[in-house]
Amino acid sequence: MTVSRLARTIRESATLRLNEEARILREKGEPVIHLGIGEPKNKAPINALLVSAARLSSGDVKYTPTDGTPSLKKAIIRYMEEQYDRLPAPENIIVSTGAKQSLYNILFTLIDPQDEVILLAPYWVSYPEMVKMVYGIPVIVVPEDGTFHPRMEEIERAVSSYTKAIIVNSPNNPSGILFNEAFISEIVEFCESKGIYLILDDIYQKLVFDGLRAVPAYRYTQKDIDSSHLIVVNGVSKLYGMTGFRIGWVTGPRKLVEVMTNIQAQTTSNPSVISQAAAEGALMGVQSVVESLRLTIQNNRDVIMQELQSFNGVYTVKPQGTFYCLPDFRAYEQDSEKLSQFLLRKALVVTVPGAEFGMQGYLRLSYAGAVKDFTEGLERMKWALDPEAPNEIYIGDRKLVRDWL
Ligand code: PMP
Repeated sequence: MTVSRLARTIRESATLRLNEEARILREKGEPVIHLGIGEPKNKAPINALLVSAARLSSGDVKYTPTDGTPSLKKAIIRYMEEQYDRLPAPENIIVSTGAKQSLYNILFTLIDPQDEVILLAPYWVSYPEMVKMVYGIPVIVVPEDGTFHPRMEEIERAVSSYTKAIIVNSPNNPSGILFNEAFISEIVEFCESKGIYLILDDIYQKLVFDGLRAVPAYRYTQKDIDSSHLIVVNGVSKLYGMTGFRIGWVTGPRKLVEVMTNIQAQTTSNPSVISQAAAEGALMGVQSVVESLRLTIQNNRDVIMQELQSFNGVYTVKPQGTFYCLPDFRAYEQDSEKLSQFLLRKALVVTVPGAEFGMQGYLRLSYAGAVKDFTEGLERMKWALDPEAPNEIYIGDRKLVRDWL
């Protein structure tokens, strides 16, 4: 079997692989706790279900315009106006099969071979692979001060004549950090003046804690959407916990959206009409579901921060958004893949190695699940990592045996 040179360079999705490993272990009856999970436990909003069920039972399940149904776009325009204080035209928007496809469409549209895309570590796992998939070069900027907040000087140093785009994800998966207003305004100004595209992955924008708000980047540009270099990505996966519906969208200059639509038309066509109806239902329904999801997750964040304090030598930056945190486990082990494997084998706890996000020595933990599950997961991790703890414990009648890392 021969696969292309490009395909060979693309890494497997670590998070999806871990999901699969956990599923197989669970099927075998193993009491696995999944702290790698990227989705909350909530049910889809009722209006999403009603609107999509109505579409389904009408039997009218056909192709839609490639870039999304006019009625979903109308709902998106309303959302964008509310969140960003900008009124996009329908031609500024393309709906895709998840924000993942939105991001891929953007990169496919912008990148020529050898073009560089700046990514800020810790970054979302898929960014570097997606950049490579369009023959681009990911350029990683790691904050030198050991925080998860990048500084403009560091980014400027990474810019070259090949820099085509910068991806900013705030609040950030995996760190939970919210980039501050000064940074967002500086980077918007920088990109607009240099003609570099600024891709804002805003899919966690409503999952922000402690009364903070994600800063809408459009506020810092005078340019209208069509002449601006800002490209904004959103979706229903994190906004409403509707991960399985697979709906994301891009807002950007219509010339780029037109090209993205051509790309999508030649690859997947429109996203499922049923899912589009669900997304429309969610966007047009009562928005208290977003707030209740946010409050649940904020409470989970407080619990996990408390629990993490009892690990010796582990420092965790307090997340201001998302449902992830990224504790520094270097006091136990420098190699996060090794540590993650150890925790899965010995404690049956799934974590995601920080190396996947450009942060070796850290582990990404999710607090999207039930409090009871993730606290139990942390208890098991504490046991597995404590040399003083007994060598065996029981989870029901399943004996866990630890030998040291
Ligand atoms: N961007 C980030 C930062 C994410 O964390 C995710 C999902 N984990 C996505 C994009 C993709 O989301 P979707 O489910 O809409 O494809």
